[in-house]
Amino acid sequence: MPTLPWNQIDTVLLDMDGTLLDLHYDNHFWTDYLPQKLAHATGLHPDACKAQLMSHYARVSGQIQWYCLDYWATQLNLDILAAKREIAHLISLRPDTIAFLDALKQSGRDVVLVTNSHPDGLTLKIERTQLDAHIDTLISTHEFGVTKESQSLWQQLHHRLKFDPDKTLFVDDSLPILTAAREFGIAHLLAVANPDSQQPVKQITDFPAVTDYRDLIEAIISSPVQHAGTEQ
Ligand SMILES: [Mg+2]
Repeated sequence: MPTLPWNQIDTVLLDMDGTLLDLHYDNHFWTDYLPQKLAHATGLHPDACKAQLMSHYARVSGQIQWYCLDYWATQLNLDILAAKREIAHLISLRPDTIAFLDALKQSGRDVVLVTNSHPDGLTLKIERTQLDAHIDTLISTHEFGVTKESQSLWQQLHHRLKFDPDKTLFVDDSLPILTAAREFGIAHLLAVANPDSQQPVKQITDFPAVTDYRDLIEAIISSPVQHAGTEQ
């Protein structure tokens, strides 16, 4: 279980997919469901469609296009959002998410969602999970035109939110993104080792890693943030 210095953390930035939501939905959509849709639309063999898509994903990995539903709709001539809605019943919160978010809130911390998800994908996931009831601020990096893999995103986000990097915790299931956040200077980083409920737990050595946020709750609650004007 990771030990984080909660007495030095007043802001928590959270990824969405694989961090608060089960990544199974996204993995299933991109690696299984979309190749089937493409095969149906083009008449090509599903295996050929899958191979074509996997190589296309690799070409734009980490870039804003990878996360952009409009990009894929244009490239594949498919209604991607409609296809995502067809399997929206698979969108689900991790079982430990709400307790974690509520503990962060109860302890007085600023909680901000920072996702590379396209705004339409974010809206769909909020509809299905009501995640917005537990988070102060929701940000899609599409509004900045760059992803969390980019230093430009962190600079713009810092300008917008005015968080103190020394007092900020960032949680994500992507190691390249955590590495970018560390390069920017976010002091406290936490990886998610089990982003997809259908996949084995990942071995993570570069960052403290968590498999169940409920293990952190006692430490969070016992170290509340003292806001100016409320100190005794
Ligand atoms: Mg993620």
